[in-house]
Amino acid sequence: MTLKIGVIGTGMIGRDHTRRIQQVLAGAEVVALSDVNLASAESVRADLAPNAKLYETGEALIAAPEVDAVLVTSWGATHEPYVLAAVAAGKPVFCEKPLATTAEGARRIVEAEVAHGKRLVQVGFMRRYDAGYLALKQAVQQHTGAPILVHAAHRNPAVPEAYVTPMAIHDTLIHEIDVFRWLLDDDYVSARVLYPRNAARSHGKLRDPQVVVLETKKGVLIDVEIFVNCQYGYDIQCEVVGEAGTARLPEPMAVALRLDAKRQSSILTDWKDRFVASYDVELQDFIAAASKGGATGPSAWDGYAAAVTSDACVQAQESAGQAVAIELPARPALYE
Ligand code: NAP
Repeated sequence: MTLKIGVIGTGMIGRDHTRRIQQVLAGAEVVALSDVNLASAESVRADLAPNAKLYETGEALIAAPEVDAVLVTSWGATHEPYVLAAVAAGKPVFCEKPLATTAEGARRIVEAEVAHGKRLVQVGFMRRYDAGYLALKQAVQQHTGAPILVHAAHRNPAVPEAYVTPMAIHDTLIHEIDVFRWLLDDDYVSARVLYPRNAARSHGKLRDPQVVVLETKKGVLIDVEIFVNCQYGYDIQCEVVGEAGTARLPEPMAVALRLDAKRQSSILTDWKDRFVASYDVELQDFIAAASKGGATGPSAWDGYAAAVTSDACVQAQESAGQAVAIELPARPALYE
């Protein structure tokens, strides 16, 4: 069976996921496209999915009888209504992060899915599918003993002028927030944010770098440096310190050069290159589960937990180093 997918939002990631489904992955095809900017949907249709039908609204695409499953890759603020409409239609839906722009919005999706009685939603937290993080998780489970500390860094070479302090949480830390809950099989209880002096190339609306300290229920302390104008490259670091040893996220493959009296190897500069393979694996996983009418992988509950944690981290950014509590209600049985 070929899963027939409708894509809402044909910007950068919507186009890229359409390419994946049409040219890389197995078991699915894009049969419908929609975007507020219909010319953008038309261009993706012409380039990648000539048989797809164009819809003027995401709602019409979700309701279309030929659409078995939905990809929501539009602007973040539109995710919640589209995911709710897909759940109401009983159609599996892959939603790029964020699941919703508020914790209450993510909670509404959880409630709708619980009322439906079966998982339909997968959230695009692709790091869980990265070969490096999977190997790290296995090493933590098999070798390091129970985790005590995590030291991490998320560095970008540069960000646009419009990137301001809270975006370090919503757009950048959001991936660490999800992947560490998964890596440690744990939940957060508090967040703190500490700032060194601002880097000289930052500006008045961006504190950069910053350090977020998350504490978990099991007592693990996680420090994450976010440095989005680090200049030298896109660099994701993570070291888990356990009872018996430490485990470090593998570096992306790079040829080791000996040249000009130096040992050297390249560092990536574009985040798309760092996680390109994990996007393929996450969407193939979605296709497999959606073909059976359900969903797997990062859930609406994970999207909700990430939204609650993000809100606490943004509050902590304005709390002069004080800890902000992170509280989640009891997890519904659907997500056990
Ligand atoms: P983008 O290039 O701006 O694309 C978003 C597209 O959605 C644009 O074509 C936009 O049209 C369209 N759109 C806006 N409102 C809409 C609506 N009501 N209905 C249908 N389409 C609408 O952004 P992007 O970089 O692809 O990001 C899209 C989403 O994916 C964001 O939530 C982002 O956070 C997420 N994302 C996740 C990752 C990841 O690592 N997992 C990576 C990249 C992006 P206009 O341009 O005309 O407004």
